[in-house]
Amino acid sequence: MTTKSAAAAARATVYGYPRQGQSRELKKAVEGYWRGRVTANALRDTAAGLRRTNWRQLAEAGIDEVPTGDFSYYDHVLDTTVMVGAIPARHRAAVDADALEGYFAMARGTQDAAPLEMTKWFDTNYHYLVPELSPDTVFASDSAKQVAEFKEALALGLTARPVLVGPVTYLLLAKPAPGVPPDFNPLTLLDRLLPVYAEVLADLRAAGAEWVQLDEPALVQDRTPAELDAAACAYRDLGAFTERPRLLVASYFDRLGEALPVLAKAPVEGLALDFTEAGAANLDGLAAAGGLPGKRLVAGIVNGRNIWVNDLEKSLSTLGTLLGLADRVDVTASCSLLHVPLDAAAERDIEPQILRWLAFAKQKTAEIVTLAKGLAQGTDTIAAELAANRAALASRTGSPITNAPDVRARATAVTDAAARRSQPYAERAGTQRARLGLPLLPTTTIGSFPQTGELRTARADLGAGRIGTADYEERIRAEIQEVISFQEKTGLHVLVHGEAERNDMVQYFAEQLTGYLATQHGWVQSYGTRYVRPPILAGDISRPEPMTVRWTSYAQSLTSRPVKGMLTGPVTMLAWSFVRDDQPLGETARQVALALRDEVNDLEAAGTPVIQVDEPALRETLPLRAGDRPAYLAWATEAFRLTTGGVRPDTQIHTHMCYAEFGDIVQAIDDLDADVISLEAARSHMQVARELAAHGYPREAGPGVYDIHSPRVPSAEEAAALLRTGLKAIPAERLWVNPDCGLKTRGWPETRASLENLVAAARTVRSEL
Ligand code: GLN
Ligand code: ZN
Repeated sequence: MTTKSAAAAARATVYGYPRQGQSRELKKAVEGYWRGRVTANALRDTAAGLRRTNWRQLAEAGIDEVPTGDFSYYDHVLDTTVMVGAIPARHRAAVDADALEGYFAMARGTQDAAPLEMTKWFDTNYHYLVPELSPDTVFASDSAKQVAEFKEALALGLTARPVLVGPVTYLLLAKPAPGVPPDFNPLTLLDRLLPVYAEVLADLRAAGAEWVQLDEPALVQDRTPAELDAAACAYRDLGAFTERPRLLVASYFDRLGEALPVLAKAPVEGLALDFTEAGAANLDGLAAAGGLPGKRLVAGIVNGRNIWVNDLEKSLSTLGTLLGLADRVDVTASCSLLHVPLDAAAERDIEPQILRWLAFAKQKTAEIVTLAKGLAQGTDTIAAELAANRAALASRTGSPITNAPDVRARATAVTDAAARRSQPYAERAGTQRARLGLPLLPTTTIGSFPQTGELRTARADLGAGRIGTADYEERIRAEIQEVISFQEKTGLHVLVHGEAERNDMVQYFAEQLTGYLATQHGWVQSYGTRYVRPPILAGDISRPEPMTVRWTSYAQSLTSRPVKGMLTGPVTMLAWSFVRDDQPLGETARQVALALRDEVNDLEAAGTPVIQVDEPALRETLPLRAGDRPAYLAWATEAFRLTTGGVRPDTQIHTHMCYAEFGDIVQAIDDLDADVISLEAARSHMQVARELAAHGYPREAGPGVYDIHSPRVPSAEEAAALLRTGLKAIPAERLWVNPDCGLKTRGWPETRASLENLVAAARTVRSEL
C-alpha cells in the first residue's frame, strides 16, 4: 500500500540551479554595478530576469516543485547572515545606509572595513562568507529576500519551495567575531537564533509557502553528542512552532550517520538525503532508523556535483528500495545544481560520442524528471530514455579514451622510491641555500600577476582566429618582460613569470594533457562573481609534450635572479576538475602526477632552480568524515611526492595552499616533503604560523601578508606588523615574505602598491633582526 502510493506520488524537484545565466549575465551585471556602470535597479532587473528564466526552464523540463531563495548576488550564506540580522559591527553603518552597498561591503571589504572571511563550502570549490558571531550578537529577522523571491515564482504560476541554510548549519559554519575569545562556540546562540527562523518561516507561510527546505549539510560531518543534541532541540522547537509551513530538512555531500536517527525522529514533515556514492550509507541508515513513516523522503539520486550521465537503471533500483521506507518518495539531485555547469548541449568542441557521457544542470534536470516518471508511472513509460542511457554508458566503458594501455602500465610500475627525494630535507636545505644565496626574509609572489583585459582579449582573439599564434605569443612575451622588470625594480628576490599565458591554473594544463577535456561554456561559481570552468578528467592521462618550460625559460633569460617554475599539483588538478567516477580517485591522481613529474624534470633540466607545485585544494578535498581521511591523504601526498620526487637536492620545491586554518593537516603537509610552503594568512592574523609552530613544522614557510581577495592595499606598517607576528612563531631563517595567493584577479595599480609595501615591510623587519 505505502509503496504504491509513494510511487504514484513521486515528484521531481531540485534544491538550486546555476545562478549566473547562459552567458554569465549575473557576473557582468554585478561587476558593472561595482564599477558604477550598472544601476542598482538594472542589477535587480537582470537578477529577476535570470530567476524567471531558470524557473521557467525547470518547469518546462517537468520539475514539479522549483526552489526559491537559492539565487544570490554573491553568496547564499551571506544572504542568510542578512536574513538573521547578524551584520558585523564594522559593516553596520554601510548596511543601514544602503542595503545593497552594505551587502557587497561585507563580501569584498572597503578601505576601512575588512570583508568577512571566505572559506570553502564543505568539500566543494564553492566559497562562502563566514558568519561572525559573538556572545553579544542580537539576531533580527529580515525575510524580505526570501519572501520576494518566493512570490516571484508564485506569480509565474509555479509550485515553489523556499530553500534556506538551516539554523544548525548556519551556526556550525560561523566563527567567533574578531576580538571574541576563539573558544566561543556560536552554537550556544541557537536559542536566540531559532525565534528568528520561526519568524522567517511564518512570513513564508503567510506568503503561501506550503513547504520550506532547511539545508543542514553540516550534519554529514562528524558531530559531537552536544551538537547532535542541538540539532534535535532545534528541530523539536521549530517543529513545535504552529505558524510554520511543512519542513523538509536536507543534507548532502555525505552520509548523515549519527544525525540520521536524530532527524528521522524530529517533528518535521520531510527529509532530503544524498543517495549517490557519497551518501550511499544513508540507505542502510534509513532502514536501520525504521524509515520515515508518515513523512516525505526526497531522494538525491542524481549526482549534483559531477557531470557524468546517471545510471538510470541503477537509480531506479535504489529508488525502488526507498519506496518501502517513506510515505512519499520524490526524486532530486544529491545537492544544489549550483556545482555543475548549465548545459552540456552548449559545448560545440566536445566530440558527440563523448558528449553523450555528460550531463550538466539541464541534462540532470531531465534525468530527475525521467526517474520520477519511471517511478510514478512504471519503467515502460521511460523505455526510450533507458535505452539511450544504456548505450551512452556502454560507449564510455568500452572507449579507448578510458583505457590507454601505456598509461596504465606506467602507473602500475611506480615504485616507492620514485615518490621520494634523494636526500632528506635537513640535508638538501643547506645545498639549496648555497645555490640561491637569498637574504633572510626573502620576498616572492605566488605566481600569477594581473590578468588584464588586454591579455584576456588577446586570448579571445587567438581563440576566434583574429590573431595568429605568433602574434599571441609575442604579447605574452611582452607581458613576461614587464612582469620581470617590475619585480626586479621592486626588489623581489624569487621572481615569477606571471602566468600571463594561463586562462586558469587547472584548465591550462588540462588543455595540454591527453585524456582531459576542456569545456567552452562550463562555468561554475567559485565565489562571488568568480566563475571557473572545471575541465573533465575523462580518460587516461598523459603529457604529449612540455607545457610550461619555454615560458619559464624565457623569463629566466631576462634576469639574473632566480625564476620560479610554476605548476598546478595533481591533487588540485583533480579537485578543480570533474573527476572520473569509473575508477578510484587515487588511480586518476597517480596518472596526473606522472604527467606532471615529466614537466618538473624538464623544468629542472632547463635550469630552473625553484619549482612551485601549487596544491591549494589539498584540504578541500579532505573527506568530510575523519574516518575517511587517512586513505585520502595517503594517495594525495603520494601523488605530490611522485610529481616532485625526481629532482636533484639543490632544486627547491615550493608548494602553495590558500587557506588559513589547517591544523588538521599539518602532518600531511609535512608528508609532501616540499622545501617551502606559502599559505594564506593575512585575514587570520598569521594563524597558520602559530599552527605550523605548534606542530614543530621543520621547513620554510611564507604565511601571506597581503590579502589578495580584496582590492584593499595593505600599508607597509600593516604588513610589517604581520611579519613580526609571524616571527614569533617561525624563525627568520625559515620565514618567507609573500602575498596570500596569486594576483591574477587584482588590477595593476593595487598590485604595484601592495608589492612595494610588502618589500618595504620585509626590509624594515629585516633591519630589526
Ligand atoms: N600559482 C597560482 C597563482 O598564483 C596559484 C593560485 C592559487 O593558489 N589559487 O595564480
Ligand atoms: Zn592560492
